[in-house]
Amino acid sequence: MSKLFAIVRERCPRCATGPIFAGLFKMNRRCPVCGLEFEREQGYFVGAMYFSYALAIAAVLPIIAAMLLLGFAAASIYIVSCLFLVAVSPFLFRFSRVLWIHLDQVIDPR
Ligand SMILES: [Zn+2]
Repeated sequence: MSKLFAIVRERCPRCATGPIFAGLFKMNRRCPVCGLEFEREQGYFVGAMYFSYALAIAAVLPIIAAMLLLGFAAASIYIVSCLFLVAVSPFLFRFSRVLWIHLDQVIDPR
């Protein structure tokens, strides 16, 4: 339960206390509490793109489905979906990285 709470609060996967982010898009290089290095190597966060894709699809599918059921034109659905994804992109960026760091810590704890 504390792991899930740490993910939701964007906290370190090892100590569940230190914040992963120092700003909206700025990450801490290391956990300020336990010193865990968040970016282990160059290109480490490429894997977070998989989470980002999945989260984006999960976020936009209900909107697309609702607009299709309400009879909106494809162009309208496309524009609304794109605007929605731009609006939630900071959340997707942050949360996909948090999920990636936590998954990596489960697979290869350090
Ligand atoms: Zn920590």
